Amino acid sequence: MKAGLEVHQQLAVGKLFCGCPAELTEEVSDAFTRTLRAAGGESRAVDIAAAHQASRGLAYRYEAGPSSCLVEMDEEPPHPLNDTALDTALIFSLLLGARPVDEIQVMRKIVVDGSNTTGFQRTALVAVNGELELAGRRYTIPTICLEEDAARKIRESPGEVTYRLDRLGIPLIEVATGPEIASGAEAREVAEELGALLRATRRVRRGIGTIREDVNVSTEGGHRVEVKGVQELRLIQEYVEREVARQKLLLELREALVRRNASVPDEPPTDVTDLFRSVASGPFFGAGKGGQVVLGIRLRGFSGLLRSPPGTEERLGRELADHARAVGLRGLVHSDELPGYGVTAEIVGEVRKQFSLGEPDAFVLVTDRSRERAALALARVAERARAAVAGVPGETRDPLPDGRTRFSRPLPGRDRMYPETDIPPIPITAERLDRLRATLPERPQELEARLARTHGLTPEVVRQLVYGDLVGNFEALAAAGHAPGLVARLLIQDLPAVPPPADGAPPFEPSLEQLGELLAATEAGRIAKEGVPPVLAALAGGAPDVPAAIDRAGLSGFSRDDLVALVHRVVEANVELVRTRGEAAFSPLMGDVMREVRGRRDGREVSEALHAEIARVRAAPSD
Ligand SMILES: [Zn+2]
Repeated sequence: MKAGLEVHQQLAVGKLFCGCPAELTEEVSDAFTRTLRAAGGESRAVDIAAAHQASRGLAYRYEAGPSSCLVEMDEEPPHPLNDTALDTALIFSLLLGARPVDEIQVMRKIVVDGSNTTGFQRTALVAVNGELELAGRRYTIPTICLEEDAARKIRESPGEVTYRLDRLGIPLIEVATGPEIASGAEAREVAEELGALLRATRRVRRGIGTIREDVNVSTEGGHRVEVKGVQELRLIQEYVEREVARQKLLLELREALVRRNASVPDEPPTDVTDLFRSVASGPFFGAGKGGQVVLGIRLRGFSGLLRSPPGTEERLGRELADHARAVGLRGLVHSDELPGYGVTAEIVGEVRKQFSLGEPDAFVLVTDRSRERAALALARVAERARAAVAGVPGETRDPLPDGRTRFSRPLPGRDRMYPETDIPPIPITAERLDRLRATLPERPQELEARLARTHGLTPEVVRQLVYGDLVGNFEALAAAGHAPGLVARLLIQDLPAVPPPADGAPPFEPSLEQLGELLAATEAGRIAKEGVPPVLAALAGGAPDVPAAIDRAGLSGFSRDDLVALVHRVVEANVELVRTRGEAAFSPLMGDVMREVRGRRDGREVSEALHAEIARVRAAPSD
């Protein structure tokens, strides 16, 4: 296999072609609806992905917020390109040793899913021929671009997709690697390194969804497949490995299909609605009523190959169903899973008879209230089944949260860029590059070295800070005077261990101020290091502030004096033990005290108090 990455990182420098803030909002003050149609270009050819999308006949609804402007609605030409965004892209290019272009020419790239009000995305090539060196391996960086982010998808309902304009126009740096990545683990490492380099510019947006990856995977004998819009870096490895496994299965299926001389007849679907009128449950319930039809097609030689082979999760049946779903159906039913879904063996026999099927033949059924849509779905399914006989189709796939992917649309054609005539070209002057070169930010390795040096941290801790995107918080808290080791432990160990919130709740993100208060409480001895996780959990659980969280965690009200008193009580109760065994009494008594104070007082403090009390008792004359 081989793989390449495309990383998209949002910048925190305002929008690219207007003066709106680059912030997401839940406030919606206006909405409008548009449709897109596919038109031929100068060569009269219609882009295959555009045609595919247009055939779905969707309406696109756009939600505008209080700060949305006419540029975002495509009612006003774009303003000049954001200069700070361009500087940031140039800085990043220089960090990768790439050669900036002489002149920026903004282009329009056709986008077919309605996510841009214009129907295109503005994009500009900024630099070429960079290189990334990582663990002794070299990856080429053919291109670095600056582009505008698309609108944010809010919901999808039958026939309509809703987007919000807040994300549209946020500047993105797009960086692509060559196809030199040889494994899923390598893909993850390269993505992490590029992420750290992007953050080195210190002008990137943070948080989930602000960096997105497209992963291109091809296998020998297979085809290039693009898994588009991965937001969770840790899943990259899994997407790559599962895609390789999927292509391998499809290639095995092709062999079996070719051996059987399998084919999909080029014929219109057959209406078998009448056979399903008696079905009393499942997807076919209601057939023949209210215009609900059942249509089917024949797949010669496909029998037994549609369900998943033992030990795999992928199956051809699901691939076919994805194509039915892409035109708005709930799915399909194929002969390998029948009888079932309320369909009896008798009905299956009738269908096979009507379709004149032999033993090795399969069939696919769909049901829908629109005969037209059902027929379109089956045309797509037939197309996909034919592609199975040829092998692995090139396509764009959506990443799913569980590590699987799902067909979204064919790979777009190459001819989908044309110049943006509203924005004049921008020359990149030598002076500009000199100025940027003179103030290049630290590369991740330089940052690691400096943090280790100035804060006395181990390389492993420093690495986790740099690659975990924790440097900003770390430096802010360390600069406020908190102990570096304590800050690192809080950010690397304690915060990530906070249990994730219940479904739908926003992730727990304590403010810098709260983290500072928590560290101060630890440093002042109000809580022990071991007490930090329960206090964080209490904050995540809704405690309004740090003192309340300490209370809720049951860690408050145990002062240094309380500790001294407790130690005194415990030692007095065991005075004989101390007198007969001396210092050897320390361990069992330490255990007794810690059981009482764990999380409330630091272990070292307890140990010191106990040693002092034991020494006092031993020095005192016995009566
Ligand atoms: Zn705007």
